[in-house]
Amino acid sequence: MNKNSSNIMALAPNTSNKRETVCIFGTGDFGRALGHKMIQSGYPVVYGSRSTQISNLIPKDAEVLSHAEAAQKAAIIIIAIQRQHYNFLIPLAEILHGKVLVDISNNLKLNQYPESNAEYLAQLLPGSRVVKAFNTVSAWALQSGTLDASRQVFVCGDDVEAKQMVMNIVRALSLTPLDKGSLLAAQEIENYPLQLFPIWKFPIFLSLGLTAFFFFYCLALDVIYTYIYERNNFSFFIAITIPNRVCPVMALILLALVYLPGIFAAIIQLYRGTKYRRFPDWLDKWMLCRKQLGLIALAFASLHVVFTLVTPMRAFVSWRTSKGIISQVLNNKTEPLSNTNAWISDSYLALGILGFFLFVLLGITSLPSVSNNVNWREFRFVQSKLGYLALILCTAHTLVYGGKWFLSPSAYKWYLPNIYILSLIVPCAVLVVKFVLIFPCVDKPLTQIRQGWERNPKHSE
Ligand code: NAP
Repeated sequence: MNKNSSNIMALAPNTSNKRETVCIFGTGDFGRALGHKMIQSGYPVVYGSRSTQISNLIPKDAEVLSHAEAAQKAAIIIIAIQRQHYNFLIPLAEILHGKVLVDISNNLKLNQYPESNAEYLAQLLPGSRVVKAFNTVSAWALQSGTLDASRQVFVCGDDVEAKQMVMNIVRALSLTPLDKGSLLAAQEIENYPLQLFPIWKFPIFLSLGLTAFFFFYCLALDVIYTYIYERNNFSFFIAITIPNRVCPVMALILLALVYLPGIFAAIIQLYRGTKYRRFPDWLDKWMLCRKQLGLIALAFASLHVVFTLVTPMRAFVSWRTSKGIISQVLNNKTEPLSNTNAWISDSYLALGILGFFLFVLLGITSLPSVSNNVNWREFRFVQSKLGYLALILCTAHTLVYGGKWFLSPSAYKWYLPNIYILSLIVPCAVLVVKFVLIFPCVDKPLTQIRQGWERNPKHSE
């Protein structure tokens, strides 16, 4: 037999290994789904239920007994019952003594009880070995087999052997156990499924707030002002023109906001002369959601691309083009091609295309499947160096686009600057400070601080 085939043999599951019986208390949605998956994975399953009548919903090969009878048949008992009913377990304390009880329960609210459900179970039955697991997997995902997004199962418990037994079951079900430590971690694990995009909250609210601000800013300057002073009804700008102004502005500002906390962190470290003091909370939180800010920026940039591509199809654009042609015909005069204008328009398009390309590259490398396959240096090269290059290109794209009329008085309706001028404030500030930070006289001490050097070490004597 060749080497390869022996490897394949070694990797093949040992189907002759008989699995131990697992008991599940509760024949509800989760108990049935988990039981079904366990039977598929070769575990004999016995249910402990208030009613021993077999129903069609219960997996075919499972036994249904009373709680006491079922518990006696297995060393591991999965409690697929809501916390508020746990009292019924107290009379079973003797039978459950020494058994591994798996608490899979969730709550309806964050921190609903002073202690976690698993700790409560351990208090009710001090002789049992309680392990928290499976609460982040849904019955639906178990049943439908669509477990890709929730393959990870958090496990915690004070009894190492009991935890190992549960983690073995998790692996046998083709899931990935993640040891979260002692039962103290149960509260956090129970809160996990109740959180609604915790890391996305700040980036989403910030984006919504800024989008609303810029939308109404454009509405005031491009629609209301034009109507009041020029009697032109451009209300249709709301559909494409204004969104196509807001999207690139948002993309540029959010991309700059990805790099701004790094600049603050560098300034703070230089000022303190050490990296060993914690950043303020707001900066910590900001740094943690940089990826989300970047992905939202990418979404805005993609929308800008789509809005721009449909421009030639717009009635307003064809009307304006034909108006220009007709006026040339009426005046019997052909406008000569302005080489400067052609250069400006081609350059800003080229800068936009290159900037967007790098933007997409940043987005792709932030995907876990890609970032897991590059080392730390490669990841930093893409996210930091290419990220700054993307910021430079996108800032230049905006500058070249609006450069010639940023300073014209007509760009200041109601004395307010054009939206593109506003969009350049944060990116330009980030780029200027970053430029200062890479000067050797600043970069050298900063690098030393980041390598552990301290200006005023506490334990110097
Ligand atoms: P469920 O469909 O309501 O089932 C709960 C089961 O508990 C009932 O079928 C019943 O089983 C038993 N039960 C109800 N009242 C009882 C009482 N007074 N005394 C003893 N047993 C009682 O709920 P579920 O969706 O399966 O959820 C069960 C647990 O799993 C919950 O703690 C939940 O948080 C957790 N969980 C559920 C999901 C999910 O997707 N559903 C995901 C993760 C975690 P018998 O009639 O057989 O006695």
